[in-house]
Amino acid sequence: MKLGKLLYTGKAKDIYKTDNPDEVIIRFRDDITAGDGEKHDKIPMKGYYNSIISAKFFEVLEAAGIKTHYITLVKPGYILARKLEMIPIEVIARNIATGSLTRRYPFKEGQEFKEPIIQMDYKSDEYGDPMLNDDIAVALGFTTMDELDKMRKITLKVNNILKGFLKERGLLLPDFKLEFGRYNSKILVGDEISPDTCRLWEMKTRKTLDKDLFRRGEGGVIDAYRIVASLILDDRDKKRWKLEDDLL
Ligand code: 5GP
Repeated sequence: MKLGKLLYTGKAKDIYKTDNPDEVIIRFRDDITAGDGEKHDKIPMKGYYNSIISAKFFEVLEAAGIKTHYITLVKPGYILARKLEMIPIEVIARNIATGSLTRRYPFKEGQEFKEPIIQMDYKSDEYGDPMLNDDIAVALGFTTMDELDKMRKITLKVNNILKGFLKERGLLLPDFKLEFGRYNSKILVGDEISPDTCRLWEMKTRKTLDKDLFRRGEGGVIDAYRIVASLILDDRDKKRWKLEDDLL
């Protein structure tokens, strides 16, 4: 693997050029942030776990026919991906009411929805990720009605696939966030899918196994991420990615 020039630095990941102009390497760092970057810390091994968890989720989605930017996990911490023109919208799917939804609306904490809710936010620390509607997203020049429809449909499919996959492994998926980008006029799922971007609860106890532990200042973050990794990765993953047994 050869890391080229640093193209972009985000709050928890760096994007590097590769020899191929259509591909990038995403480096998952140990930085963790909350509240639009106001709260910040470093948690050793967080990048390791988020990269292998993301790689697994992307492979599960690709196997089910969802087009994503994922190409391969180069090694823990580093994913080779297609270079996308990112759309600055966070597409959120919700199965269980929690987080900002119960803070903003009179839903009951833990209430399960009959049909998933799709919400779109403008990805902007400056503006505090405000919720969008279709007209605002199009008027801002971010996207088109056709793309919005595609992102919504893909997110609903992703929700079904991940919910089923996680259920078999004893995990609930209350909600998650996806980001999309354009690649050769196609819309692909980009960014990461990890406990930083999903809520993951132990099914029996509804115990939190995601970034909410950090948001709430509770600690135990890396233990939770390790539990998620050990539940979703199988022996084949551990072998091909050369993951050490004592890390899972
Ligand atoms: P909420 O709107 O309840 O804060 O978040 C809903 C879901 O989307 C959660 O799974 C959360 O992790 C994810 N999410 C929403 N906004 C962001 C964001 O700006 N960054 C990250 N990492 N996840 C987000």
